[in-house]
Amino acid sequence: MKLKKLAMIFTGTLLSLAMVGCGGSGDQAKQEAKVLRVGATIDFAPFEFQDEGQKDYQGFDMDLIRAVAKEMGREAEIQNIGFDGLIPALQAKNIDVIISGMTINDERKEKVNFSAPYYQSGLTMVVRSDEENIKSFNDLKGHKVAVQIGTTSANMVKSLEGVTVTELNTPADCFMELKARGVDAVVNDRPVNDYYINQSQAVGVKSLSDMLSAEEYGIAMSKDNPDLQKEIDAALKKLRDNGEYDKIYQKWFGTGK
Ligand code: GLN
Repeated sequence: MKLKKLAMIFTGTLLSLAMVGCGGSGDQAKQEAKVLRVGATIDFAPFEFQDEGQKDYQGFDMDLIRAVAKEMGREAEIQNIGFDGLIPALQAKNIDVIISGMTINDERKEKVNFSAPYYQSGLTMVVRSDEENIKSFNDLKGHKVAVQIGTTSANMVKSLEGVTVTELNTPADCFMELKARGVDAVVNDRPVNDYYINQSQAVGVKSLSDMLSAEEYGIAMSKDNPDLQKEIDAALKKLRDNGEYDKIYQKWFGTGK
């Protein structure tokens, strides 16, 4: 009798465990649907970076995509991926969107869909403070220039005649190469150059005012998912309308948009 009772309790426990198990995986599926998987290259301050001792990625893009995800009832889960690996990661469906100071251009539009533009950018140069010969993009001929691999800067500089191009993984690597006199100039996005120059570590270098090509950043997503593009654009519009975009802009750039 006692044994039978024990057996019943045991079976009951097993059954409820199994039910908990089912419930658990159901919840997990729901949870996953609520996550927005984001890819970014976390070395592009003030858009995406990580300060020592800080757990969360920071920057304009990071705040913006978290706000976009929230608008969509989702939570942004951000992965750090090399810049030239971002579009492949999207195509392999390892991530849902890219936000990484990514310029909207025709070449990329063949592979991905972009949201409405969310930031106006352009390219500038950083040179050593004692540099006398390079004042504008026209002066780059005959010089060595560092750029980040897979970027619009890399494309632009490679199209110039007589320039020796060094492609490195991050803007930080480019600035290091400049200071080490391995190159004479770094071509990179204006806001990132400005931010770098305003940092105390940027001694012995200056940023030049000559600016090339107005560029616009967009959030990229798979071409297979036009609904996601609509959702992202609606969220962006909402954030612009309700002042949240301006708050984030103000926080990182100190001026209104
Ligand atoms: N805006 C540039 C591009 O899209 C650089 C982006 C980056 O380095 N994160 O190519």
